[in-house]
Amino acid sequence: MDAFETTSRQRLHRSAIGHSSGSVDLSYAVASALYRLVEPEGMRVKFDRDTCVGMYQCVAEWDAFEKNLNDGKADLKGSEEEEDDVFVVDVPDGEEFDAKFAARVCPVDAIEVYDDDGEQVV
Ligand code: SF4
Repeated sequence: MDAFETTSRQRLHRSAIGHSSGSVDLSYAVASALYRLVEPEGMRVKFDRDTCVGMYQCVAEWDAFEKNLNDGKADLKGSEEEEDDVFVVDVPDGEEFDAKFAARVCPVDAIEVYDDDGEQVV
């Protein structure tokens, strides 16, 4: 995680728990918008659903993930099953920031993010 992302996300969480001023909220909004402009395109997410333990932190970070309370797992919307219980999806433009944070907050590293060269970035 680079310093820019760390600062932006920390501001978001401070805002969410009420320790933020309006100017910080505005700073986060501007920083997030700028980040989205420079984020490389063509990202892909790989989700190991067998590893998932259903803590649902990813759901809070990226709305491509949704709770499946019956299975005690997350579901990755729009994904294809690449191999047994491993799902992949291309990250829509503008959602790269959220996808990377979903991967970063997963406590069991069930989510991986790859750039358009196939290099793992998270
Ligand atoms: S954060 Fe990880 S363990 Fe939790 S629901 Fe998402 S993928 Fe599963």
